[in-house]
Amino acid sequence: MKFQYLGTAAAEGWPALFCRCEKCMEALKRGGKDIRTRSQAIVNDDLLIDLPPDTYLHKLQHGLDLSKVHDLLVTHWHMDHFFARELCNHGGCYSHDMLSPELHVHCAQGTLDTFLADTGWTMKICEERAIVWHILKPFESFTAGKYTVTPLPAKHMLEMKNGEPYFYLIEEGEKSILYCHDTGIFYDEVWEFLAKRKKPLSMLSVDGTYGPAAAGYGGHMGLPENIIVRDRLRELGLVDEKTVCVINHFSHNGGMAHDEFSALAGKEGFLVSYDGMELVI
Ligand SMILES: [Zn+2]
Ligand SMILES: [Zn+2]
Ligand SMILES: [Zn+2]
Repeated sequence: MKFQYLGTAAAEGWPALFCRCEKCMEALKRGGKDIRTRSQAIVNDDLLIDLPPDTYLHKLQHGLDLSKVHDLLVTHWHMDHFFARELCNHGGCYSHDMLSPELHVHCAQGTLDTFLADTGWTMKICEERAIVWHILKPFESFTAGKYTVTPLPAKHMLEMKNGEPYFYLIEEGEKSILYCHDTGIFYDEVWEFLAKRKKPLSMLSVDGTYGPAAAGYGGHMGLPENIIVRDRLRELGLVDEKTVCVINHFSHNGGMAHDEFSALAGKEGFLVSYDGMELVI
């Protein structure tokens, strides 16, 4: 199973669009792994996670053939994870000879509502353009191509509507990834669900918005919360010595340069993501 981080920043990007803070200026100077675009990842070459405004840039940067994408998992409607209008380039005269002409979008009702409001499209237009929507229910696993996916409620927005936002457990055969971003330390119901699993994950990707500092509130995490989550998963048997643990989704407000944070997080057994980072698990 191949997993690639395409974008690894929070909403504003890092360097942030309108920012001149010390961290953004340093990132500009350093370049490379310190340039972070908005969050997106791809499993193999056919399962895309989130659709940020930087999707087109990711296609160019990483030579992606996004016509192969059969399933799109959307975590939530926040702009850095779902730039609705980009989907209007799917099908019709905008994309020819696609390897997967149908795109199945898996999301909460709030994400579909955002799409319809932002684009003015109807469900009939979606049908004509081969975009098939699947509205998810928390904890209800579904099949997406060769993957089994379980949406888990994320602790992120103050109000939770229709289960949104989600984070995802993605399984392909014996391989599994828990991709948990834009969430604080999980809800009790999520821990109860995970406790029943009793099978180590191949990969754990946790929210690193606050970098080395504690987020200190429910909506995101920093290294202290990453350690709490990883250790609790270890106690439950979901993390073992083979599980690849990665911190991802960074903000200029809390973050450290990639090499500095890698040294710190590495002592705790974590890798630190960067745009384009590829893992075979
Ligand atoms: Zn985000
Ligand atoms: Zn900044
Ligand atoms: Zn968010």
